[in-house]
Parts: sequence; C-alpha cells; structure tokens
Amino acid sequence: MSNRPRSPGRHFLQIPGPTPIPDRVLRAIDMPVIDHRGPDFQKIAKRVLEKVKAPFKTKNPVIIFPASGTGGWEAALVNTLSPGDRVLMFETGQFATLWKTMATNLGLRPEFIESDWRIGADPAQIEARLREDKGHEIKAVCVVHNETASGTTSPLAEIRQVIDKLKHPALFFVDAVSSLGSIELRHDEWGIDVTVAGSQKGLMLPAGLAFNAVSQKALAASKNSGFKKSYWSWADMLANNANGFFPYTPATNIIYGLDVSLDLLEEEGYERIFARHKRHAEATRRAVVAWGLEVLCKDPKYYSPVVTSVLLPPGHDADAFRAIALENFNISLGTGLGRVAGKVFRIGHLADTNDLTILGALSGVEMSLELAGIPHKKAGVQAAMAYLAEEARKSTQKLAAAE
Ligand SMILES: *Cc1c(COP(=O)(O)O)cnc(C)c1O
Repeated sequence: MSNRPRSPGRHFLQIPGPTPIPDRVLRAIDMPVIDHRGPDFQKIAKRVLEKVKAPFKTKNPVIIFPASGTGGWEAALVNTLSPGDRVLMFETGQFATLWKTMATNLGLRPEFIESDWRIGADPAQIEARLREDKGHEIKAVCVVHNETASGTTSPLAEIRQVIDKLKHPALFFVDAVSSLGSIELRHDEWGIDVTVAGSQKGLMLPAGLAFNAVSQKALAASKNSGFKKSYWSWADMLANNANGFFPYTPATNIIYGLDVSLDLLEEEGYERIFARHKRHAEATRRAVVAWGLEVLCKDPKYYSPVVTSVLLPPGHDADAFRAIALENFNISLGTGLGRVAGKVFRIGHLADTNDLTILGALSGVEMSLELAGIPHKKAGVQAAMAYLAEEARKSTQKLAAAE
C-alpha cells in the first residue's frame, strides 16, 4: 500500500475498456453463486442467450465463452477454417496486428494489408486484393470494427458490398470487441459470418465473457473445419445452450450482470447510444484541435465514436504525461500501444458516460498538459463545452417539437 492519502470521489477510468460498471450492473453481479446446472440458472441463461442477440442485430445464435475477447478471436478462426488457409487482414492498429499474429500462430496464412494506423480498413484496398484472388484462396476477410489502439472505425457495410460485388466466397469476420453496444453493427444485414465481442467495453461488464455471433454460413463451414479444438468447440456449446446449459462452468455472475446491462442498453435505446458516442467523440476532437494537438486518425471517414488517440508533439513522452494526469487528477488515460507507444495517449469516451464525465476528463487532460509543460492553447474544454451546450439545445428543441 502506498502512503498517499485516499482519493475521494470516483476514479476517472477514461481508457477505451475496460469501462466503468454502472451501479445497477454491479448490484446484479453481487449475488450468491448458484448451481450452473440447476433450474434457476437455466432460466437466466435461456433468457440471456436470447436477449444478447439484440446488440448484434442477429437472429442467429450468439455463443458465450468464459474468456477475454482474444479467446473469441481464436474460437472464430478454429471453428471455421483449416490449417494453411489464407486470411485477409487489414492493419488498422495493434489489435489487427495481434489478430494476425494469432492467425500465424495457429498455422493460418494471413495476408496483411499494411497501413500506417491513421485510417480504418479501406474497402478499396480490400477490393483490389480480393480481385486478384481469382482462385478464391482467401477463406476469410478479418476486420477490426473499432481499432481501439488507433481510434479508427472501419466501414463494415462497404466492405461487405465489396465482397458481394466480386462474388468472393470468403467468410467475413469482425472484431467488435470495442464497438458492440457503442457503434452501430448489423450482424445479419451486413452478412457478417462471425462477430467477435467481449464483455468489458460497450457492454459495461467486467472482463470475462467472449462472444461469437455466427451466421448459417459460418455454422456450415464449422462442419468442414480442419482445426482440432475442444474448449472452443461451437458444437458442444450450441448443443448445451439449446437447453440453457454450458459444457463447462460459465462465468455465472458476469452473466447476471449481462442480463441487466442489456436492459440498460435497451432502456436508453441503441440509436440514442450511438448518437451519444458520436457526440462525445466530436466534443473530444474539438478539444484536441483547440489545444493545437493532432488526432491520430487522419481521415474523418474513419473517426472512432469510442476512443480518440492524440499525438503529442515530438519530444514529449505520452506515458510521462499520463502519469502526471493520474498522479494529480486520479484519471486513467489509455496508453499508446505497439508502434505508437510513448507517442500517443488515448481518451476513451464510451459506455456508461455522459457530457459532464467527458468534460471532467477533458479538464483533467487540459490541466495535465499544463503541468507536463506540453505546448497547447487553453481552449479545449471551452470548445467542447460550446459544442455540447449547442447539442443539448438542439436536443431539447427536438423533444419539444415532438410533443
Ligand atoms: C480490447 C480489445 C481486444 C482484446 O480483448 P481482450 O478482452 O483484452 O482479450 C480485441 N480487439 C479489440 C478491438 C479490443 O478493443
């Protein structure tokens, strides 16, 4: 234990996941453990396995593993593909890079469209590569929906259109770990074959659940997959899930939490949630620009509603800056990962958050820029406030007009 005095108030957890857990969800998790093979849990599991389809916008099964999101990647790959298969991936940032490494480790042959982490997955480059693949050697296209490392979001519907236009039979896999429940995603309509997600970001839960939403095409592919698997087998899961059970112990208390967090999403309404994330992202970018700093994502088409990565001027260490913010204002900002380590810090603006939380976080950043001696204009919070006040005015007018 350190001898620092206690920090009163809530810690500002402004990293892009794990995200703060709402009180109602915490209370739901704080329950006695029950028999996961008994009738009470069976009832909850049946209900949750149905309800969890909503954020994915799917009518197909959603498989829930007791795992972190990374486990969901592995499950998607080993259930549908065979060793030696080619997979096409786009280098949006660190998470795309890690997924590629996993594919290599599993004995797949990833083709990586390299990029500078400053844009999302570019449909035109994916189209060009698929067009060359006349023999249909590429068995899957893997895209990170929201690249949490760089703060870019990829246009999934456009990528789907490219695959369809070329009549390419590849499966379409999407990492939605940091987008599910925060950015619109339509698993069925966009023809996604496996959507991978995790519990600790937009779903406002502790880490510990990994999701695979599947398609009929993915289920068919799973019958011919050449990978050996056991823990990750969809077949065992689906057979057990049909009765509200799991082949091994599920993360029961996190599933109680999921039951409630899905209610919270429903109560706010997905459209409103997506708009809120865009608003907070815009407020954050306005602050960054007003400070005179640079957003890592360089093309507005790919701006992330969930996280903003901010480049510091050369000669300033982003991790030293983050340490100053934590020390002085009890705020955790996201670290730069991989090739942008030390160069960027990230502001998470997702999940259970509101205008004043964002403004508090931006105030912490602005004061920390001052303390760290990073050149900036003291106009960021002001710019964010002006934008959010104007948005609030518009929303009040809209509500009044609707009455
Ligand atoms: C957080 C995250 C992951 C990894 O999830 P873990 O739960 O840490 O395994 C994967 N992809 C993206 C886009 C993420 O944001």
